[in-house]
Formats: sequence, structure tokens, C-alpha cells
Amino acid sequence: MLMLECPYCGVLADETELAPGGEAHLTRHGPGSSDDDFQDYLFTRENPRGVHFERWRHAHGCGKWFHAARNTVTLEVYGTYPAQTTEPPKEVCAKITGAAPGWTWRLFG
Ligand SMILES: [Zn+2]
Repeated sequence: MLMLECPYCGVLADETELAPGGEAHLTRHGPGSSDDDFQDYLFTRENPRGVHFERWRHAHGCGKWFHAARNTVTLEVYGTYPAQTTEPPKEVCAKITGAAPGWTWRLFG
């Protein structure tokens, strides 16, 4: 079972208390962007085997959105952090690099 710690209230919640929100750190494209950029923003998502960044909402708790970095194969959670960040915190990246040597953060979009 997937267990994530809410970075706002500190509760260690199982997935039944959470609502998934899809991929995190999407580059948003709006008016004035190209059709291809807007299409990618709406429909194109990563589906990696390994490190993945996701949005979750503590639906049966404080109700706030947060991001989680986890491994889709092992379900290891590298960390959770507020959804208002544009990239993962350095300590989360360091934990991922320690578990998956050679991994590097890249900007999506
Ligand atoms: Zn919470």
C-alpha cells in the first residue's frame, strides 16, 4: 500500500485518504501558445518506470494539494513537498540520486 506523509499536517496517510492528481511539475501553456504546446499540456504525460513526480490531495485530511516523488516500481517514496514549488527540493533530489545513481532532474515541457 502506498503511504505518503502530508507536508502540511504531517499525517502519514495511506492511499485511501488521498486523491491522485496526476503528474506534477507540468509546464502550463495557455493563450498565445502553439497548438502543439497546448496539446502536450493537455494530453501528454510521463509514464516512467522508476522515479516519478505526482500531485496528490489529502482529501480526507487537511484537503491540501502536495507533490510526491516516488519510484513506480518499488513504491519507495523519496519525499513529499508543497504543491507551490516549481521543482523538487534539493533534499528530495539528493535522496533520489542516492537510491538511483545517474538520475538527474529535468524540466518537463
Ligand atoms: Zn494534510
